[in-house]
Amino acid sequence: MSAFAQRLLKWYAKHKRALPWRATRDPYRIWLAEILLQQTRVEAVIPYYEKFSARYPDVFALARASRDDVLKTWEGAGYYARARNLHRAAQIVANERGGKFPQTVEGLMQLPGIGRYTAGAVASIAFDARAPVVDGNVVRVLCRYFGIRDDPQASATQTRLWDTAEKLLPKKRAGDFNQALMELGATICIPKNPRCLLCPLYKDCFARADGLQNALPVKRAKPELPHKIIAAGVIYRRGKILIQQRLNEGLLGGLWEFPGGKVEAGESLADCVARECREELGIAVRVGKKIISVDHAFSHFSITLHAFHCEYVAGRVKISSAQKYKWVRPEELEQYAFPAANKKIIAALLAPPTAPDAIAPPRGAYTKTNTPRPARKNSRGESRTATPLKTQTRTPTVRRTRDHRRVRTP
Ligand code: SF4
Repeated sequence: MSAFAQRLLKWYAKHKRALPWRATRDPYRIWLAEILLQQTRVEAVIPYYEKFSARYPDVFALARASRDDVLKTWEGAGYYARARNLHRAAQIVANERGGKFPQTVEGLMQLPGIGRYTAGAVASIAFDARAPVVDGNVVRVLCRYFGIRDDPQASATQTRLWDTAEKLLPKKRAGDFNQALMELGATICIPKNPRCLLCPLYKDCFARADGLQNALPVKRAKPELPHKIIAAGVIYRRGKILIQQRLNEGLLGGLWEFPGGKVEAGESLADCVARECREELGIAVRVGKKIISVDHAFSHFSITLHAFHCEYVAGRVKISSAQKYKWVRPEELEQYAFPAANKKIIAALLAPPTAPDAIAPPRGAYTKTNTPRPARKNSRGESRTATPLKTQTRTPTVRRTRDHRRVRTP
């Protein structure tokens, strides 16, 4: 075993954090933790890991669960493609492999959502396969220790980093070695001002010797993220709210949301909501007061989402860019998995009112509608003019949810 590996393993034995997935060799639990850890901090992962482990104690339980249930359990963890792939992979392992995970990197990479990093982590930690891992923490340690000055995202540098990680692996305890390298990057060789005096690799580290710790790894200039303005409607009809389920594939696939879309050039927020309802749902709505504006950043763009109270006016719902829709009572919203920005709208809707008009629109607040109400017929079949919309706005009523919170609905 190299001096590098010896020092690292000795340090790891003494200083590793007691994380819940480190107390098991169960490939299901290790896989679950590794999927959750992708692009998420350890502290944020722990509650999700515990929630998933309790709700789906083995791969068969996860495979049997509905996709909606899995998404609801995942809600808030972000990067929802991970949850969909997790579910699909569980179904493959449970239904086609009798519950047994592949033990090799190549076999694991056949499963949805498992790339080279995750395959290496599961194979080495659960099955002690001699497989390297390279994640952000490992990149940082290797670039600093070996003085790698090339862009770590360039494919030639990636190849060099994977080769280096493989060469460093000891013949045995590959899983411990991989975890030790990642742990060092997470707790000692941190992005800014690494704690070199506590590092087991201090003696031979290139960056430490040359004072280049904060200059390595080299960083690419980050492109500015495009920003989108989105307007959405909380559409009421007979005390219920319309929600729709996004298509399974793509961003936030399978999650529920309030209908809406991107504001077009020269369009007002209220006009956007009315247009989206007409185009995407086939209904006319009257747009009322704003509920809340929410800023949210995704990996490739950011949004400001403006949510409005809306009142259903006319038309039969016919969705064209969602897979399902439902009318639900406000207190039922929490049963569905929503993206983070929509969760903030729900929190605003369900918050106790602090002022009479804080959430619910006042009488006469609805000002926009995209089509006139159609003329209706009385019981004798005679046409009569519809009651003017303005006069039909109802005074907000207060409902109580099962946990006794007050919910105001217009
Ligand atoms: S000595 Fe410092 S820069 Fe080098 S690997 Fe250790 S923590 Fe990182």
